[in-house]
Amino acid sequence: MRHACGLVRSALLAQVWSRTWEHEVQNSPTHPTMEDTIAALATPVGTSAIALVRASGPGVGTVLRSLLPGGDSPAPRLASHIDYLSLEGKLIDDVVLTWFQGPRSYTGEDLLEIACHGNPFIAQGILQDLFRRGCRPAEPGEFTRRAFLAGRMDLSQAEAVMDLIHARSERALEMARRQLRGGLGKRMQVIIDKILMSLARVEAYIDFPDEDLPSEDRGAIGKDLVACEALVASLLATNHYGDMVRRGLRTVIVGEPNVGKSSLLNRLLEQDRALVSAEPGTTRDFIEDYLQLGSHLLRLVDTAGLNKDPEALEKLGIEKTRERGAEADVILWVLDPQRPTPPVPDFVKAQLARSALIIVVNKADLGAGPPRLEGEFAAVPCVAVSALKGTGIEELKGQILAVAEAFQVGVGPDQVAVNARHARALERALEALRRAGEKLAVAGPVELLASDLREALDACGEIAGKVDNERMLDALFKTFCIGK
Ligand code: GDP
Repeated sequence: MRHACGLVRSALLAQVWSRTWEHEVQNSPTHPTMEDTIAALATPVGTSAIALVRASGPGVGTVLRSLLPGGDSPAPRLASHIDYLSLEGKLIDDVVLTWFQGPRSYTGEDLLEIACHGNPFIAQGILQDLFRRGCRPAEPGEFTRRAFLAGRMDLSQAEAVMDLIHARSERALEMARRQLRGGLGKRMQVIIDKILMSLARVEAYIDFPDEDLPSEDRGAIGKDLVACEALVASLLATNHYGDMVRRGLRTVIVGEPNVGKSSLLNRLLEQDRALVSAEPGTTRDFIEDYLQLGSHLLRLVDTAGLNKDPEALEKLGIEKTRERGAEADVILWVLDPQRPTPPVPDFVKAQLARSALIIVVNKADLGAGPPRLEGEFAAVPCVAVSALKGTGIEELKGQILAVAEAFQVGVGPDQVAVNARHARALERALEALRRAGEKLAVAGPVELLASDLREALDACGEIAGKVDNERMLDALFKTFCIGK
């Protein structure tokens, strides 16, 4: 009986916990800006068919009534075609005006959208007029921040808005879309629910320190912890792929001087980007450019040749090659089959745990066999190409795409892949879960077990939005653009 009562109380506690943060953030007195009405241009500055100015906050109704000839608000979500007159009664433009009544709006507040002709003077004129009517300029990301604070989206979805706008490949776009639709939030909820169940079981015993957890509870918690650890670890493993897709697949071309690295870069980019010369050591710095490959974005980097006896300037270039190599997702190691196969560069060896390696045997048009490589390198994918003639390039692109796909560990069909902020929180959750598991195994005190579980919950909560850290929110939303 005592057990059952404890469980019920703990389950209630758990529900209270999950609601507490929502309440805290919505009513936080540290958000005086919630009382303000903000306005900003939502489209880029420049010439376009249409520009969109947005305003959000409690003053929208007043602004709206002052703009309409009869002083009435139109029905929400209905477009009104009106002449926009400034406070002084001067015509700025004829505009289409739509308003969304809070909480059913992007920000959760009353929101006004004014579509005007896409001339920067018109858009600025309207914006300045809105400021004179009492609105204030929005800060970067403030519309989305308000959406988050009003509970319209969780923090991972707010980040996805940013990712969606800045996505530079189809894959990055798809990933952002899924995250915006709550893909990550859903995965986190499964983990959070499991931890909450374990916490509920443990909390039932906190008031009775002399009693040990019964073995059936111990067994169930143990199972749940193992399952949670696996879920967290597999989500954490998606971080590399997530970063890679968001920033572009860093593909670094390395090799000895004159093997055809610059020629390969030019051939892949289909333009003369790098200087090609029969004289060795012409690329002393690195050259990089972007390439769309399938649904991926490639950030291609051509590096200085790995000369055995470099002169001073070349040395600097080689140092940079090593640095670039250390950041690579994929290394294209170019060989000239006319020359003896060089030893695998040390930094390439060191990178193998993190980066994929593809051996590119260039100058296939001159005819020569594949390189002789031993040990683990014998199994590395190897493609014969001619950067000069263009043969083998499609096969090489296919190979690069194949290795990019192989990075999708744990991503799953929902295309959820975490960013660096999520990864830090997941690492903290994983550590706490492991500590809890250890304590459970040695029958440690239930209070300590509970505190580890709470820490794991806290860390998981940060991903979707339990954020009471103002500075962190500031830093996150500052990376947004104004008007978003
Ligand atoms: P890097 O120093 O490794 O960047 O090499 P480059 O791209 O500057 O090329 C060095 C020399 O090899 C130039 O004379 C190129 O024209 C030549 N070269 C590059 N690729 C090929 C190829 O596929 N076949 C032949 N025959 N020559 C090539």
